[in-house]
Amino acid sequence: MSLGHMRKITEEGVTFKSHLDGSKVVLTPERSMAVQEALGADVIMAFDECPPFPAEPDYVRRSLERTVRWLERCEAARTREDQALFAIVQGGISCDLRELSLEKTLPFGTPGFAIGGLAVGESKEEMFPIVAFTAERLPEQKPRYLMGVGHPEDLVAGIALGVDMFDCVYPTRTGRFGYALTDRGRLNMNSSAPRQQLEPLDPECDCYACRHYTRAYLAHLVRAEEMLAPRMLSLHNLRYLHRLVERARAAIEEGRFAEWARAWAEGYFPKAVPSWFLAALETSQQPLPGGSPAARSL
Ligand SMILES: [Zn+2]
Repeated sequence: MSLGHMRKITEEGVTFKSHLDGSKVVLTPERSMAVQEALGADVIMAFDECPPFPAEPDYVRRSLERTVRWLERCEAARTREDQALFAIVQGGISCDLRELSLEKTLPFGTPGFAIGGLAVGESKEEMFPIVAFTAERLPEQKPRYLMGVGHPEDLVAGIALGVDMFDCVYPTRTGRFGYALTDRGRLNMNSSAPRQQLEPLDPECDCYACRHYTRAYLAHLVRAEEMLAPRMLSLHNLRYLHRLVERARAAIEEGRFAEWARAWAEGYFPKAVPSWFLAALETSQQPLPGGSPAARSL
């Protein structure tokens, strides 16, 4: 999707121009499986189309039907037994199209399911109801993976709705831009305040950057455009997200997830907790038919 202006999608697969040398690259479900088998990842993803936002409902429907045919081809093409192939549910921001995608995708019985086609430009008010709708219809005992998400608040809201896995460039990209994630929101290391602060980025954090460097020193590295700055900020941001999900997991196990999530959000959004976040917490407290153990423990 990110190479949208350089590619062509057909039933066979996707043809695009390499952004490095302009050469033609053809990616098909079969080739995608071969590449992922060669890489040897434990979890591999079906070859799908993630339609842009906004997209015509008719296009989203035809696209998701092709994604199902591509999933069939992925299943047929794979040769290794030791990798978990996840199917991807599409359908944009329409409940009807999500339902259609689920109906066609669930029978494959893959060891996990991804929720794709979100976090592509729609608002959080549009995205999270679709996450709720889709997650509660996925099998309880299999991992649910929300693709391309995201920010700390999106992880907490996603967990509330029964999501188990996430991926995003955000923690490293925002680190490269000079931002550090904390329980008090994003700390801008390009601003003047951190230059005078002799405490770590986050006193609670056990990452290398927080145990070895002050905010003032890291702000100096940012200003001097030293490569160590984006490295340390990326390291810290990744550890921040790990600690966030560790805390969420502990709260779920102790049956106090909703209180924990609300208290965390009040610190993270000092002005006001956004309504979409509160709505996700509300939804998570409804009994979910087939909801995940995480959602049910709320
Ligand atoms: Zn840290």
